[in-house]
Amino acid sequence: MTSHLKKVELHCHLEGAAPPALTLAQARKYNIDLSAYLSDGAYVWHDFASFLECYDKVSEVYKSEEDYALLTETYLEELASIGTIYSELIVSPDHGKRIGLGAEAYIAGVCEGIRRAREAHGIEARLIVTGERHFGPESVIGAAEYAAKAKNPLITGFNLAGEERMGRVADYARAFDIARDAGLGLTIHAGEVCGAFSVEDALNDVRPSRIGHGVRAIENPDLVKRLADQGAVLEVCPGSNIALKVFPDFAAHPLRKLKEAGVRVTISSDDPPFFHTSLKREYELASEAFGFSDSEINDLTRTGIEAAFVDEETRRALLARL
Ligand SMILES: [Zn+2]
Repeated sequence: MTSHLKKVELHCHLEGAAPPALTLAQARKYNIDLSAYLSDGAYVWHDFASFLECYDKVSEVYKSEEDYALLTETYLEELASIGTIYSELIVSPDHGKRIGLGAEAYIAGVCEGIRRAREAHGIEARLIVTGERHFGPESVIGAAEYAAKAKNPLITGFNLAGEERMGRVADYARAFDIARDAGLGLTIHAGEVCGAFSVEDALNDVRPSRIGHGVRAIENPDLVKRLADQGAVLEVCPGSNIALKVFPDFAAHPLRKLKEAGVRVTISSDDPPFFHTSLKREYELASEAFGFSDSEINDLTRTGIEAAFVDEETRRALLARL
């Protein structure tokens, strides 16, 4: 049982966290038939292509600023109910544009949801703006410019998500330069779909303080040592990795090996209901599947706060709550 432990989450895609019950209510509100993608309170998909299709269909029922406030508030409420004190949500202003809502209204809705959840439950949250690799470098630079110019105190990080096999990291370095110059924290998806080389590319070309996933670094012992020496933090999402068959099972998952090699690791849920997981389950897995003690799990949580994209005063307050 890990219900008594404080929790933090650094890697969760907002649309990917949409609770099925809320999605169902939204689908009814907009008269959208989701029966092929949502049944018995769970999202339905069977391979990577149908996962993406399901994800898009679910995103379609969140249309307005208020929808995004409600989505954000509902997810943070769920996190707070299991003892979570801090959450970083990965958001895509481009997604707001693509659905016709606009980046400003999309972000305003999300920020309103954060405000409501903080007021009601005391949970602290920040936003990581992400570029999406499969839309190409220009679109990712646009996302970085948006994040840099937003001057929104809740936008504190920049990420690169999407199809990892598309282009090389160097193609996206300029977007990260823009985000770095604006003082944003940097993290990048790597070492999930692609092997250790993608983590090396990320370290060399982007110089991030954190890597999203990064677990396939385990394929190269020199790289594992480099991660440990540099103190780079991995946002590890075990449930997601198993759902997407990055590793065959939890016994083969390198979370414990990485921690024992001195790599700073944290745990997150990625796109929780799509992978039939939750932050609650990830913490339970840390205990039951990986055999971490309470104090080892608290180490993961403390690392999460140390690596969080927050000001030092907020970091101290979070560490004090741990
Ligand atoms: Zn992710």
